[in-house]
Amino acid sequence: MPSKRLLITARSFGRNDPKHVATLQDAGFTIVECRESPNTDRSCLEAVVADVESWVVSAFRIDDALLSRCTNLRLIIKHGIGVDNIDIPAATRRNIIVMNAPQVNPIPVADLTMTLLLGFTRRIVEAHLCVTSGDWAQFLGTGVHGKTLGIIGLGRIGLAVADRAKAFGMTLLGFDPYAGATVSAQRPDINVVDLEHLLRTSDFVSLNVPLSSETEGLIDDGALRLMKTEVVVVNTSRGRVVDEAAIYEALIEKRIAGYATDVFEREPPEGSPLLKLPNVLLTPHIGWYTRDAMKSLGDQVVDSILSVYRGETPDNILNREVLSAFPAGLWDET
Ligand code: NAD
Repeated sequence: MPSKRLLITARSFGRNDPKHVATLQDAGFTIVECRESPNTDRSCLEAVVADVESWVVSAFRIDDALLSRCTNLRLIIKHGIGVDNIDIPAATRRNIIVMNAPQVNPIPVADLTMTLLLGFTRRIVEAHLCVTSGDWAQFLGTGVHGKTLGIIGLGRIGLAVADRAKAFGMTLLGFDPYAGATVSAQRPDINVVDLEHLLRTSDFVSLNVPLSSETEGLIDDGALRLMKTEVVVVNTSRGRVVDEAAIYEALIEKRIAGYATDVFEREPPEGSPLLKLPNVLLTPHIGWYTRDAMKSLGDQVVDSILSVYRGETPDNILNREVLSAFPAGLWDET
């Protein structure tokens, strides 16, 4: 069995659990590491891609020009779910298999949603900074028990948020034009309503929708003007679901109480006026990033690579049309 060169540029793959890389090495892969960062030098990568056969990637842009240099590449796997950074048609033209790791766990994102909600309402960051700076003051918080949480998007994360909020004694409203009827039938604890009703009546709003042409700017000036002045909007979905200019205006005019978000229109949100506001709580897109979720993601990546090399056809192959080029898998491919 010849040694296969596998490039890891993914930021976290193998870093939290050394077993992931060890399993691949034991299976006969030679590992080439060149980790991505916001300042990754493309030319440095261009030098290593020519002789690798498989590639574990995070957000690095793999375009047609770069693929033209990857003369031995047979498999790209995304360490995550979204593959918008990979030119799949260009990979397909070159008979390169593209895969992702789609079983992203909703629990860490739901946990972060509650963390942002409670962190904002109990003013945890201010309180922490007060104590660490040697001061001692009181920070009047807001309770969530008995308050209404409106959840927009009743999918995996939205329903996990509902489970958590229920345990905190919150009343649940939900809006979802697709899953709403099913949720309404199956979850008597969630009152599925129309969007306007949810926006007008909620004390807190949690955004749990995918970004699409329909959800981009869903929380715009019009939506914000329907909300109560005490509302806190929590966003762990995608930055562009909220019109950031509109929410900035609503925050400075105190038409809403707060915005707690893990996601931004542009990431990192360098220069965003939101960064200067007192009534925000901001995290750097960490919703999915826990040790446990990383282990599960790494397991999926390792299993997927080994499976394809064995000639199997797992469901997470995104361009199945190239498989006919490798009827016996990649180990036997010449
Ligand atoms: P999901 O597909 O299980 O659920 C999404 C739900 O949104 C679906 O029920 C769908 O019907 C609903 N929806 C679609 N369009 C809608 C609309 N216009 N109005 C209301 N509801 C609508 O997805 P999920 O696993 O729950 O993830 C939701 C989103 O969370 C992802 O698409 C992603 O953008 C985001 N996410 C963020 C992080 C993070 O680190 N912060 C991590 C994972 C996912």
